[in-house]
Amino acid sequence: KLIKEETERRVLFNKYQELKGNIRVMCRVRPSLGAPEDDRAGMSFPDEKTSAEIVLAGPEERSSLGVVSRKNYPFEFDRVFMPASQNEEIFGEISQLVQSALDGYNVCIFCYGQTGSGKTHTMSSDDGMIPRATHMIYDTITKLKEKSWEYTMEGCFVEVYNEELNDLLVPNERNSKKLEVRHDEARKQTTITNCKSVRLSSPDVVETMLSEAQKNRSVAATKANERSSRSHSIFILKLVGKNLATGEQCEGTLNLVDLAGSERLKHSQAEGDRMKETQNINKSLSCLGDVIEALGRASGHIPYRNSKLTHLLQYSLGGNSKTLMFVMVSPLEAHLKETLTSLRFATKVHNTHIGTAKSTKKIKGGD
Ligand code: ADP
Ligand code: MG
Repeated sequence: KLIKEETERRVLFNKYQELKGNIRVMCRVRPSLGAPEDDRAGMSFPDEKTSAEIVLAGPEERSSLGVVSRKNYPFEFDRVFMPASQNEEIFGEISQLVQSALDGYNVCIFCYGQTGSGKTHTMSSDDGMIPRATHMIYDTITKLKEKSWEYTMEGCFVEVYNEELNDLLVPNERNSKKLEVRHDEARKQTTITNCKSVRLSSPDVVETMLSEAQKNRSVAATKANERSSRSHSIFILKLVGKNLATGEQCEGTLNLVDLAGSERLKHSQAEGDRMKETQNINKSLSCLGDVIEALGRASGHIPYRNSKLTHLLQYSLGGNSKTLMFVMVSPLEAHLKETLTSLRFATKVHNTHIGTAKSTKKIKGGD
């Protein structure tokens, strides 16, 4: 029965992919982590079968007659994960996209949400999407060898902080050379100059990479956690495959992005360095929204260059790519306003339809 349900869900998922073009939005609600009952926001998940809806009870409002009520705010996404869901279940939903990167697509999966909503837990914890994706790719590559496919998998890990790129795999004091984004228009691929790239020849290399990045991050800032909520981190996997029998080749990229906290930062409360940081976060997140909107309008000019993040992800947003956004929310009443803001942003993205992605896989000597 489980297998049947799983198959049905997969069919539905594939249908979504056809219907909705190549940008999808899923919502994940963090568990309340021991918070008392009355600290929890009014949230419900009306349709358990399709798991695509979330209804939020808005802030209390007092009418002119003094009656207190709460308005319901319903939202619908491609999928909604309830608080009890585990990273394993989340990965089940994205494994097809990971496979797409092996098939020659550029794939971008990002986590959007306020600080503390579970972005890092989902992406880069020990059982998060980064290690899971790497393990899956490694297993698939091993199997594909029998079909004459020879793959290489290389990873790099960078952060965008204050509109500058930093290499998270190099200790900060040796991070002196400037990292620059370079695009290869013909191949629709991006490289970063002076960036350390690690050949992932076995799955445990990724664990070393993650702890290395964690270490370098904490060296860079006295309050590592605070810093990480103010920068975007991007794990980039490059997959290059060649079929030794047929000469087929493909080149795909998987970007796993943990965005800076989306909480509205007020300029008035920040001064000096903090002010600059704040402006840069606001700018890059709104620029991401602008890029997605422009892609949806099929506008001739897509403003990728307006921020470092979108410039870096140029070939993984729109065009030859598949995008998935996780909107992460907290279940607490205290975070209700931010939760509403996040879900509204995500709805805008969800309503955007961007053409259909194409794989780079091609026969040698073909077009
Ligand atoms: P963010 O990166 O969005 O700021 P974190 O991923 O660091 O948030 O999550 C904040 C805290 O909540 C962390 O201590 C994390 O371990 C915990 N947490 C987040 N999501 C979950 C979850 N789904 N299950 C258990 N703990 C979680
Ligand atoms: Mg984080």
